Amino acid sequence: MDNDILKVLYSKSEIQEACERLGKEIKDFYGDKVPVVIGVLKGSIFFMTDVIRDADMYMELDFMDVSSYHGTTESSGNVELVTDISTDIAGRDVLIMEDIVDTGRTLQFLIDTLNDRGAKSIKVCTLLDKPAGRVVEAKSDFTGFEVPNEFVVGYGLDYDEKYRNLPYIGVLKPEIYTNN
Ligand code: 5GP
Ligand code: MG
Ligand code: MG
Repeated sequence: MDNDILKVLYSKSEIQEACERLGKEIKDFYGDKVPVVIGVLKGSIFFMTDVIRDADMYMELDFMDVSSYHGTTESSGNVELVTDISTDIAGRDVLIMEDIVDTGRTLQFLIDTLNDRGAKSIKVCTLLDKPAGRVVEAKSDFTGFEVPNEFVVGYGLDYDEKYRNLPYIGVLKPEIYTNN
């Protein structure tokens, strides 16, 4: 897999440091509250487990899977719920764990959906924020790194479902896209 990477953006140790920082920020923010932490599949799995392992606090975990359909050149904006959480979040403090916020459409859909179910509060923790990609308003409360407007893979993020298990975050060589 390493041969397919043009450049490394964040090393394994830089990611680990960011996760420890975020774990502390989340623990400080919630205090004695017991949030429901919702991981958005599949991109957030490594990030979620690394962040919460360092947050010494009570929490409940659940997972959601959403898919967005993309047109040939641009995201169409349709987001669909594929797998739902099983937790009743009415009156609960919810923390969404995301891999990356790009257009913001996924996050907007998740926040609207969880708000409709009566969540008491909704906060967002994302590994990566790509502000240049924003189409709708969406903001992260706890952010690992701000990334430039490039397509990145690794540490949960895929290209064609591969590269998720890369231990760092990098940019793919252009020939990987053109050969496919
Ligand atoms: P949105 O555009 O709705 O904010 O993000 C939707 C999803 O697009 C993200 O959760 C992620 O799965 C995918 N995505 C956006 N930018 C990138 C990127 O640079 N790399 C990868 N692998 N996925 C991305
Ligand atoms: Mg995602
Ligand atoms: Mg993907």
